[in-house]
Amino acid sequence: MKTQVAMTKGNIPPQAAERFWEATMHRDARADGSFVFAVRSTHVYCRPSCPARRPLRRNTVFFRTAQDAENQGFRPCRRCRPKQQDSATALVERAAALIASSNEEVFRLDSVARQLQTSPAKLRRAFHRATGLSPKEFQQALRLEQFKKMLRQGSTVTEALYACGYGSSSRLYEKTNAHLGMTPASYRKGGEGMHIGYTVANSSLGKVLVGTTDRGVSAVYLGDREASLVEALRKEYPKAEIARAEGGSETWLKEVLQRIEGNAPRVDLPLDVKATAFQRRVWQELQKIPRGTTRSYTQVARALGKPRSVRAVARACATNPVSIVVPCHRVIRTDGSLAGYRWGLERKEKLLERESAQG
Ligand SMILES: [Zn+2]
Repeated sequence: MKTQVAMTKGNIPPQAAERFWEATMHRDARADGSFVFAVRSTHVYCRPSCPARRPLRRNTVFFRTAQDAENQGFRPCRRCRPKQQDSATALVERAAALIASSNEEVFRLDSVARQLQTSPAKLRRAFHRATGLSPKEFQQALRLEQFKKMLRQGSTVTEALYACGYGSSSRLYEKTNAHLGMTPASYRKGGEGMHIGYTVANSSLGKVLVGTTDRGVSAVYLGDREASLVEALRKEYPKAEIARAEGGSETWLKEVLQRIEGNAPRVDLPLDVKATAFQRRVWQELQKIPRGTTRSYTQVARALGKPRSVRAVARACATNPVSIVVPCHRVIRTDGSLAGYRWGLERKEKLLERESAQG
């Protein structure tokens, strides 16, 4: 036990270490670059995706960077070459700093590569290795002011990417993003390990079910019958522990009810939802649609830099588990018709009417 304390000086909080371990067990390549694991019995350190056999948990120590591991006397594994990963990350961090501080709207890979005295091909590979994104996708991320701002304020690339909906979920180990109102519990399959408490209240649109965890809102459903709403919740999060809430989330419930009446948001509603990276991006984009206005699926797809993903956008809207909070009702067809709504077209229509009336 003592050694463990001494060895984990890289100040990895135990919770993060748990997630690192999970990613290690799954050989999750998306976690490459966010940490390395080192094995005390062999003195070798690896990246999460290393194909080698897994060590025992008690022999494993985590470090943020290859350098940290080496400072503690570990050698890089010859199979997964974690040091190269580290240099890719470093290169991308430097590229990102350059790009974020420049005023140019469009980032040119070759010019950035030149400034960093490397080749475009090398930089491209580094992007892929460190962020899982191509430079082009990275460029799309850069179009988000928020992303640039976070970089300027000192966030790492992976933190900022994730916060803006780009990073793979497994890469998000600590930072969550209050601005966009998303927390990470999210991607666990089927809501495993989530404890959801729900409340059902009456509103002018019928029954409203609000499901929450201690981190945020996981479900907002509208319907006529309580039983079917609860059933829908169990279907959405089949592995979560679900029970009627014993109070505690009243502020959130009240806020949802307010918004249903078309009122302006008063308090932030943090979300705790399971989502793919793409769904997350769509939902974040929907949260930017001002109250009282609408967008078409095509417009949303374009705003995401994926003009051909109209169908996928529509699907992400249709599967939004937190209606109202993520205002998927504000997305309509290009021709102005309402398209569908998970909770019935009539409700969508009323919501839009109210929001435009309240101005
Ligand atoms: Zn290895």
